[in-house]
Amino acid sequence: MDDCLFCKIAAGQIPSKIVYQDEDVVAFEDINPQAPYHILLIPRRHIASMADLTEEDGTLLVRLFMVAAKLAHKLGLDERGYRFVTNVGPDAGQSVLHLHSPLLGGRRFAWPPG
Ligand code: 5GP
Ligand code: ZN
Repeated sequence: MDDCLFCKIAAGQIPSKIVYQDEDVVAFEDINPQAPYHILLIPRRHIASMADLTEEDGTLLVRLFMVAAKLAHKLGLDERGYRFVTNVGPDAGQSVLHLHSPLLGGRRFAWPPG
């Protein structure tokens, strides 16, 4: 999608600190980290949010979760734990309309979130 920030990051048109990428998934450091580790995982293909997923996206979602788990493992977060979430729409504070899931770790998180 032409005017989508995360499509541009995935395409390398806007610089970011990419920590992992393959043909389906891109992971990069959040520009405004809220924890010692704050990595955004996105599908390379434009999907506005989880509300737009279809059955055909099943494999992509498994890939997204597995990449997140492998990154968390590499960062040494398995024992302490970490959070992997996604915001949808205004009440949840979704500010970029390209499906993204922050992988957050390195500190203790409250639940439910504020
Ligand atoms: P949301 O608010 O939609 O749940 O999450 C969007 C996230 O994208 C925020 O955590 C914000 O800091 C991050 N973000 C916004 N613009 C950029 C950018 O240009 N580069 C990077 N790396 N992260 C961004
Ligand atoms: Zn996009």
